[in-house]
Amino acid sequence: MSALSQWIEDFEGNEMPETIITSGKGGWVNIQGSKPAYEAVSGHSCLNLGHAHPELVKSMTEAMETLSYCSPEHLSPASIALSAKLDELLGGDFMTKYSLSGSSANETALSIARRRWRALGKPEKTVCLSLDRSYHGNLGQAQFVTGFEAFRVEGRPDSPEFIHVSSARNADTGATYTLDEIEQQLEQSISTIGADKIACLFVEPIGFAGGVIVPPKGYLKLLRTLCDKHEITLVVDEVITGFGRSGTWFAFQQEGIRPDIVTMGKGITAGCFPLAAVSVDKAIYDDLRAHKVPLKMVITMAGHPVGCSIALKAIEIVERDGLCQQVTVNSQLIHAKFEQLIHQPTIFEVRGFGHMWALEFCEYNGHTAPHIAEKVAQQCQENGCIVAAADGVIRINPPLNISVEECDGMLLAIVEAVEQISHELL
Ligand code: PLP
Repeated sequence: MSALSQWIEDFEGNEMPETIITSGKGGWVNIQGSKPAYEAVSGHSCLNLGHAHPELVKSMTEAMETLSYCSPEHLSPASIALSAKLDELLGGDFMTKYSLSGSSANETALSIARRRWRALGKPEKTVCLSLDRSYHGNLGQAQFVTGFEAFRVEGRPDSPEFIHVSSARNADTGATYTLDEIEQQLEQSISTIGADKIACLFVEPIGFAGGVIVPPKGYLKLLRTLCDKHEITLVVDEVITGFGRSGTWFAFQQEGIRPDIVTMGKGITAGCFPLAAVSVDKAIYDDLRAHKVPLKMVITMAGHPVGCSIALKAIEIVERDGLCQQVTVNSQLIHAKFEQLIHQPTIFEVRGFGHMWALEFCEYNGHTAPHIAEKVAQQCQENGCIVAAADGVIRINPPLNISVEECDGMLLAIVEAVEQISHELL
């Protein structure tokens, strides 16, 4: 076993056998000592257009040849063009700052959300609310925004500045709360903490890491209303859901709301270069500027011209090839196929949205759901399909440009794996 693999096994709780991926083309990867497999989780939820997309390779090469680096204190034509494009995709009147990763984008968003209230003469509004089954990164302050304790390298937040409120799904019963219940719970939390103490609320439109938590329709609209009522900055984390994965450019657009801050990463470059971004409503930006709030955030590699060029090309491809619409079509295919598994005694629930789907397992014949999920994930890989497994759930979020044949093949590998393992555990 390699030293790297040892580290992952010791500290990251990965139960899967060591997997060395040697090359990839499209959604397919070659695995050392094993048969090729389809990347049903888009690498780590980022490889939106698969490996070695010829147009992305060309754009990357050309960008490298033209300008291999640009200081964050300067601009490049690509960084300017991307910020304008993001503004257009978001619906206009957003100001964008580049970052490096989803975690660092969320840290920036948190900082901005707090400084906004300081600028407006309400410095006591500092508390950050987020959901108990959420993931917003595991670095710096972002790890405390994250609801899952296991992902906090530094352990529990030692200040009451980070408060985790209930997700839209009851983790014990599996029931999705109604909008009325969610409103009551949130109003209760806000009243206990005091709205005058709360700076922001972070939310993922679909909680992918939390096991694909799909909230009821109207959820983001409700959060928008509550945030307006209590003067709370609404930060929508589109690190996974952004750039077409939900069937629209951004998932919040399906609820017709306007967030105060949007954070992005992963799919922004279709997973081919580290780049992230924070887009802030121009009205908030203007408040910060009017009050001369210090916001000097200089990260050496943020807004790298090569990353911005790839991002522009990736967006062009998604737009030109109608991939947002394709996601909606594929979503129905995945749903129909997964529904066929519902009669399996190992399956508790099928749920998902866009290109983000989950199969949740239940305890069966003395085997725990997490054990069954791990076994199914291993079997999927043997069947030629890489899925993610955690907490008794397997998750997929395939590349947006998956072909119909690949989608069929991926689903067949998963369905067969569930049937094989259910049979084996009989
Ligand atoms: N936000 C969400 C919703 C994520 O899923 C992730 C990563 O999985 C992050 C933020 C953190 O992104 P990164 O790993 O690039 O720091």
